[in-house]
Amino acid sequence: MLADPAPLTLADRWRQRDLAVLWHPCTQMREHPDTLPLVPIARGEGPWLIDHDGRRYLDAVSSWWTNLFGHAEPRIGAAIAHQATQLEQVMLAGFSHEPAVALAERLLAIAPRQPGRDPLAKVFYADNGSAGVEVALKMAFHYFRNRGEMHRTRFVALENGYHGETLGALSVGDIPLYRRVYAPLLTEALFAPSPDAYLAEPGQSAAQRAHEAADRLADLFDRHPGEICAVILEPRLQCAGGMRMHDPVYLQRARALCDANGAFLIADEIATGFGRTGTLFACEQAGVMPDLLCLSKGLTGGFLPLAAVLTTQALYDAFLDDSRERAFLHSHSYTGNPLACAAALATLDIFATDDVIARNRSTAEVMRRLAAPFADHPHMADVRQAGMVVAFELARNGDRHTPFPAEARIGLRAYTAALKRGVVLRPLGNVLYWMPPYCVEDEHLDLLAQTTLAAIEDATACA
Ligand SMILES: *Cc1c(COP(=O)(O)O)cnc(C)c1O
Repeated sequence: MLADPAPLTLADRWRQRDLAVLWHPCTQMREHPDTLPLVPIARGEGPWLIDHDGRRYLDAVSSWWTNLFGHAEPRIGAAIAHQATQLEQVMLAGFSHEPAVALAERLLAIAPRQPGRDPLAKVFYADNGSAGVEVALKMAFHYFRNRGEMHRTRFVALENGYHGETLGALSVGDIPLYRRVYAPLLTEALFAPSPDAYLAEPGQSAAQRAHEAADRLADLFDRHPGEICAVILEPRLQCAGGMRMHDPVYLQRARALCDANGAFLIADEIATGFGRTGTLFACEQAGVMPDLLCLSKGLTGGFLPLAAVLTTQALYDAFLDDSRERAFLHSHSYTGNPLACAAALATLDIFATDDVIARNRSTAEVMRRLAAPFADHPHMADVRQAGMVVAFELARNGDRHTPFPAEARIGLRAYTAALKRGVVLRPLGNVLYWMPPYCVEDEHLDLLAQTTLAAIEDATACA
């Protein structure tokens, strides 16, 4: 007689039900569940995700960079619960509500400023990051239409940049894996070299690399006089592009070039915003104010989807007219959802009451100390940090000219190795990174460092 098969655990049952009906994002579904584990999560607590069998996973990537203060943070949860008993949703066309107004006031009060520029003055809501990017692109384009500058139709984006998955956002993105199939559907953006310090020549400093890339941006403006409506970039840190970092001087140069050529600067701080790179917004590190600032992800502390696009009075004024066509008619059903705005307001309260940015400075210092020894690993090409983000770039024998080929699946192997040890690392190709919720304690970071080392060993063992 055959032995009974091992009984299914609760997690097994959820996996079965899931795979029967769900299609997951950013996933080759064929890899589930054998090559790529599927982990049903029952609840979250601080930096931990907990599955149905009680196994705990340290969320070292903040659930796709959204979570700020830990899972199920009670103050944000309570704010949403309270708001749900007052007003859950109302269309924001023709109607208004306190959370949307109060959040706009507070975002404008903390937004980056720059001496000599009128501050950001208006907030437009959308309901996810990509939608926020669409808003910013359409606004910039439409502004020039309204002004009669009809040939300003082109966007400049950076090589290796990422701005989301909708078609407009993909058009200004430069990550082939996400973009290539859809290329025939995309509008033609102009791509400028990335200021990425990892691409510096031997002996070239990060600042020199940034200046060189800015010179190329200047060339692009020269070749397309009066055609460019905006430059869009991720300030300081190209996240999806492999946590690549650049010197803030690039932002100053880009700001000046946009001004000199009458184009807008769009800062996509969807991932870098809300303290990730050490300052509340990455633009602050360059002392630069963009004309359009895109926020999402951490905006609600990681609780609910919401995006905000902040812009200037001057841009806004160009849409005021007797004609509806000059108006910005873009809308989403859930524009400015009250629950999401309440979560964002609670998030901003926590920044104030817990002095988050100051606390993060010491956490980042612990991360720096734990990451430093990795530089000596034989397959390490680069260890870099921007505030609460640390990245480890693997290459064969640590030589950046011999990256591991995609077929080696270094990222997948590191991912599964870490997951087995109870840590969620979700590498970007050959780049492992730490982007933990801000509530991590030293003990969590110790576990993270040990697990990262083990994952690197596993992933590179036979590669
Ligand atoms: C994640 C991300 C987006 C897209 O946000 P979604 O909410 O995932 O659509 C846009 N820009 C940057 C820089 C991002 O990291």
